[in-house]
Amino acid sequence: MSTLLQAVPPRPLGLLPGAPAPATSVRHVRSLYVHIPFCERKCEYCDFTSVAGTAGQREYTAALCDELRTLGRLFPVSGIDTVFVGGGTPSLLEPELLAAVMDTIYATFPVAPDAEVTLEANPSSTSRDRATAWLRAGFNRVSIGVQSLEADVLRFLGRVHDPARALAAVDEVRQAGFASVNCDLIYAVPGLGDARWRRTLERVVRARPDHISCYELTVEPATPLHTSVRRGLVSVCDADVALAQHRIALETLEAAGYAQYEVSNFAREGHACRHNLAYWQNDHYIAAGVGAHGHLPAAAVGALDVEPADAVAVRYWHGRGIGAFVAAVRSGRLPIRDLELIDAETQERERVMLGLRLRRGVRITDDAMRREAYALAEAGLVDCVENHGCVTRTTRRGESVLNAVISRLVSCGAH
Ligand code: SF4
Repeated sequence: MSTLLQAVPPRPLGLLPGAPAPATSVRHVRSLYVHIPFCERKCEYCDFTSVAGTAGQREYTAALCDELRTLGRLFPVSGIDTVFVGGGTPSLLEPELLAAVMDTIYATFPVAPDAEVTLEANPSSTSRDRATAWLRAGFNRVSIGVQSLEADVLRFLGRVHDPARALAAVDEVRQAGFASVNCDLIYAVPGLGDARWRRTLERVVRARPDHISCYELTVEPATPLHTSVRRGLVSVCDADVALAQHRIALETLEAAGYAQYEVSNFAREGHACRHNLAYWQNDHYIAAGVGAHGHLPAAAVGALDVEPADAVAVRYWHGRGIGAFVAAVRSGRLPIRDLELIDAETQERERVMLGLRLRRGVRITDDAMRREAYALAEAGLVDCVENHGCVTRTTRRGESVLNAVISRLVSCGAH
C-alpha cells in the first residue's frame, strides 16, 4: 500500500463549509510545536528553517498568533501536555513578543497545569532578566544550545557565543527559577578529539543541567559546512570516531547520574523530555509556524478538506519562507504547504523505526517483524522480551549499528 502524497492548495482560515467536525480522536492530541525562525547568524552546519536577524519579527509573531488561533479552532483538543517553542532561536525574540505567543497559546489551547513548556534558547540571547520574563510568560523548561565548551569548536560551528557565555546562560536560567534545564551538545566535530569531548561533558555535568542531548555533527546538503567539505577544505570525522565519542558520552553521563533514555538523550530522574518522547512514540502533535511539521490523526484531515481514504494519520508541513507565511495568513489562508496521508502499514513501520531509538525499546506485534527481531537477537543486536508482543530494544552493539537494525526490521514488516 503506498502512501498518498498530495499537494494542498492554500486553505481558507477557519473550518471549511461542509467539512465534517473533527472526530473525537483529534481531541486526544496532547502536544504542540511552535517555530520561531530568527537567529543571530546562520551556523555553518544548519539546515533548520531560520534566517539571520530579526527583521519582521513583529509581523511574523502576529501571523503566528493568527495561525495558532485557527489551528485551535480546527483541532479542538481536550488538553495539551507538552508545548515546545523551538527554532531558530526563540530566545532572540523580544520578550514581549514571546509573551504574546504564549498568551495566545494559553488562550487558545487547554494547556494542562502540569504541562512541560519548553523554550529553546541560545547563550548569546539569554540573561537573567530575559529568563525571568520567560518564566513569567509560562515556560517551565529551557533547552540551551551550548554545543561545545571549546572556543575553537564553537568558532568552527559558526556559533556566536564562547564557552564562558554558555556556562553563564545555564546559571542565569537557574537563578531566574527554572527547575528543568537542558544543554544541547555536538560531538564528532573535526578537531575536537576524544579528550576535549570528555572535558566538555565533564564541565557541562558540573553546571548540573537536568538533561543533556548529545548530537553527532552531520553534514546537511546546502549548508556552508557541506560546501567546505565538497571543496576539500574540511574533512569530516569518520564513523569510528563518532562512535567512540558517542560511547564517551554514555560512560561520562551515566557515571554522573544521567540515564540514557534515547540514543542521543540523557536525563536525571524525572527530567526526560516529554515533548520529544511524544515524537519517538509516534504520537500526534499540532505544529504552527514557518517550516514546522505536524502529525495528526486522520480524522483531522476532514478539517483540511482532504479525503482521508484509508489513511490513519496525516503529516503536514509549512513552507520555509517567512514572507510567504505572513502573506498567506494575512490573506486569510492556512499557511500549510503540503501534507502526506499515512496508512496503517506505514504508521506501524514509523512507530517501530522511532521506538527503536528509545532505551526501553518498542513493542512489535507484526509476525514478520517479530521473526526478524529474534534473528537480530541471535546476532546480539537486540534483546527480545515477550509481553503482549515482542518488546525489542537494541543492545549496545545494536545501538552502534542502529540504522542497519531499523532497516532490517522495517523492511520485513507488514507489506
Ligand atoms: S542557532 Fe540553531 S537554528 Fe540558528 S542557525 Fe544556528 S543551528 Fe541553525
